Amino acid sequence: MNLNGKPEMVNSMWTHFCHTKETVIDTEKGSACNWCPAQEKTEMIYQGLYWAYPLQKYMRWPEYMQYYYWLDKKSS
Ligand SMILES: [Zn+2]
Repeated sequence: MNLNGKPEMVNSMWTHFCHTKETVIDTEKGSACNWCPAQEKTEMIYQGLYWAYPLQKYMRWPEYMQYYYWLDKKSS
């Protein structure tokens, strides 16, 4: 427990696109998602930026997953 301040949020969370909640969710490190079977160690493999072709833009993995999820929904 750090008494000098709040823990750094960016470093204490892992992020994934949650298919159950249909949005990008921050989950506490060491904890599993409450809504889907996503795993922190699996998601951490997908570091860096991904090129979203129709959008002509680089996105982080969770946003990239979210983007294609909704693109798929619209086209089906
Ligand atoms: Zn989830």
